[in-house]
Amino acid sequence: MNIRAQVSSVFHLDKCIGCHTCSIACKNLWTDRKGVEYMWWNNVETKPGTGYPTQWEDQEKYHGGWEKNGRRLQLRLGGRGGLLGNIFHNPRLPTMDDYYEPFTYRYGELISAPAGNDQPTARPVSMISGRPMEIQAGPNWDDDLSGSGIYAANDPGVLHLSPEQQAQMFAVERLVMFYLPRICNHCLNAACVAGCPSGAIYKRGKDGIVLINQDKCRGWRMCVSACPYKKTYYGWATGKSEKCVLCYPRLEAGEAPACFHSCVGRIRYLGVLLYDADRIETATMQDDKDLVAAQRQIILDPFDPQVQAEARKAGIPEQVVEAAQRSPVYLFVKKWQIALPLHPEFRTLPMLFYVPPLLPVVSEEHLGTQRLVDDYFTTLENARLPVQYLAGLFAGGNTEEIKAVYRKLMAVRIQRRRITVGDVSESEVAKARELGKVSAEEIEAIFRMTALTSIKQRIVIPPMLREQAIEAGMDPERYKQEMGFGSRRPPKRRW
Ligand code: SF4
Ligand code: SF4
Repeated sequence: MNIRAQVSSVFHLDKCIGCHTCSIACKNLWTDRKGVEYMWWNNVETKPGTGYPTQWEDQEKYHGGWEKNGRRLQLRLGGRGGLLGNIFHNPRLPTMDDYYEPFTYRYGELISAPAGNDQPTARPVSMISGRPMEIQAGPNWDDDLSGSGIYAANDPGVLHLSPEQQAQMFAVERLVMFYLPRICNHCLNAACVAGCPSGAIYKRGKDGIVLINQDKCRGWRMCVSACPYKKTYYGWATGKSEKCVLCYPRLEAGEAPACFHSCVGRIRYLGVLLYDADRIETATMQDDKDLVAAQRQIILDPFDPQVQAEARKAGIPEQVVEAAQRSPVYLFVKKWQIALPLHPEFRTLPMLFYVPPLLPVVSEEHLGTQRLVDDYFTTLENARLPVQYLAGLFAGGNTEEIKAVYRKLMAVRIQRRRITVGDVSESEVAKARELGKVSAEEIEAIFRMTALTSIKQRIVIPPMLREQAIEAGMDPERYKQEMGFGSRRPPKRRW
């Protein structure tokens, strides 16, 4: 057993209201600089939709992530030869059209325009050329356009559905959408790390946060191609790549990352997981449909005395093991099994998990009647958003994983409805619990963690022990460099 600790997250999609506060909090803190205007370390997409950069999920186009090659796993970009061969011309990079041309407005024209009969307007200007431009795309261009034939219909996940399922999704009276907030997943098997020819990207040993050493980065941008989630970006002013750092300076001070702290819907949970690094290789070699279960296998029980003993041997501090025991991520992912990784088939073992949205499966006319349970569980196959679509997003195509999550989530709703509204019979609740394979006590625990948590229960930050490195005599400059501070300018604070 080779135990390590990983700071991990869960996003509860039923709670996201698509307000983009998280994106703005991140932008103000980290990417409010010249040359990084188009970087959205945190972005919020509407699903179905094409996302940002457009169609990032389409690995036929971008060749991101890993693929099985016989008994080996190799980057879709190719082996070392392939990487080096494309170093001066990489055809798999997203272009500016896949992102958008950054723009601002000539606000000064609003107050300096000469008196006239018309209201003055602020024209959009390109932040690259400085010339007036017509805005044709943006970081959330297809926001809320779930029914759009231009955007939603081109979602790579939708294109994999049968024509009947696509028709079902786009029937006007059945249209449905949800929000998908995304940050770097701080993957266990990070393709960005493997793809970097300069060795500038690394996974921090003590907490698994993936960082780019700015002094080592040579701007080859292989990380941008290799990351299947397109969560590294190239900074045009610095000539270096940058990515989400999970606000590690805030974590080290005991503060939640800015996007977690500002989240209006309180959808974000953070906690440490203990995992067995020896099982990574086996987990990544499974068939697509078995990847979720294999990823769960890697995660260890922090209450198991043998795991605790091995953690001690591996030098993991007691406080980190204790934080793992209070981790909400452990509960959602391993104990309750209702949070799933995004696109496990990319085989990077992402450490950000999602509780899938319980979209309207039961029509309103049936809510609160004696037929609720039967109607719900028999209509799961014909859900407004096909189960196959969600399975393509969160389960490597395994619809049984999605159904198991849905059955449990619905059991929570039915039991709570009996308590708060009282129009569901006890026998129906019992049936829902049986189908969801969940006890009454577990339902109450899920409900409390979903609806009634304090920030201290949602965000359990393990001690980062920054002081240990300094007390051990490490040169503060070297420490800063290793921690990824590099030559970054201090972020400009606006609020
Ligand atoms: S999401 Fe992308 S950038 Fe983040 S660790 Fe995984 S491969 Fe690297
Ligand atoms: S701040 Fe929270 S609720 Fe708002 S869009 Fe971001 S993740 Fe969703």
